[in-house]
Amino acid sequence: MEDPQPATPVGGVDYPVTFGQFQDWFSTDEACLDYLARVRWPEGFICPKCGSIDHWRTGAGLWMCKACTRRTSVTAGTIFDRTRTPLRTWFAAIWFVTSQKNGVSALGLQAVLGLSSYETAWVWMHKLRRAMVLPDRELLWGTVEVDEAFIGGITRGTAGRGTNKIPVMIAAENLGKSRIGRIRLEPTPPAKLALIDFATRVVTPGSTIKSDGAQELRRLSKLGYDHKYYTQLGSTIPAHVNLPAVHMVASQLKRWMIGTMHYGASQEQFAYYLDEFTFRFNRRTSKSRGQLFNRLMHQAAHTAPHPLKTLVIPENDPDFS
Ligand SMILES: [Zn+2]
Repeated sequence: MEDPQPATPVGGVDYPVTFGQFQDWFSTDEACLDYLARVRWPEGFICPKCGSIDHWRTGAGLWMCKACTRRTSVTAGTIFDRTRTPLRTWFAAIWFVTSQKNGVSALGLQAVLGLSSYETAWVWMHKLRRAMVLPDRELLWGTVEVDEAFIGGITRGTAGRGTNKIPVMIAAENLGKSRIGRIRLEPTPPAKLALIDFATRVVTPGSTIKSDGAQELRRLSKLGYDHKYYTQLGSTIPAHVNLPAVHMVASQLKRWMIGTMHYGASQEQFAYYLDEFTFRFNRRTSKSRGQLFNRLMHQAAHTAPHPLKTLVIPENDPDFS
């Protein structure tokens, strides 16, 4: 029987479906460079200086413009910029991060890739998380539940386990019959009207927003939304009955934070963990994990590099001590 997948994949079009295929396609750095070039320049190389498309390939992933001789690195301007690690190790990282349903921790990534230091694995996980920030920013629509939940970050200190709860704003499409569509999550900033600002940024006007009736959200009906709310005061109906989608998302998020994270996310990094959770949640019904690989590869190729100094290493991470 003929293999339906091509022997030479086109970046941005073909993606590996199985690990065997991944290994076949990306066995050399050269193959990874070709693939990345197609992801970055789907229409072919265009010189960023003069706009010419005529070019030579020179060594080490450089494209040289025939018109102006400028050399362009295929990794410049991506999260792979200036990496000293072979590109195929990065590709493997993206494969492992996306092929595991619940993701991997930095420790898990270090083990599976055989990285020499935990710090490297930690930085890679955070670079990849930042590439997940870009997921399709189409607004939610239909019937959308909006609420706030408190998620416990677990910290391992000398005094043992403690919890510090972080407020998270959740918007979730309720498709009916206990089905949830797409979600958006953000840590609640310490600002007034944060929840209504969030709701109006992530939900399409004209949608129905369901909430627990927080005072600030009542203005939604004046802003083009059909706002339905349930007041808890004097109600005997528990909140999870009125807002089942947000409560389902909150409980899955709590489980994920505990199950995948080996230490509590610091306040600064928390937003990126929420992005990873959102990235996975919104693609949980993808037929193939390869679709997530494809998506993350695309976003990694279009995400500015994040040098180590811009990543804040958590003080409470015992693995750094
Ligand atoms: Zn040029």
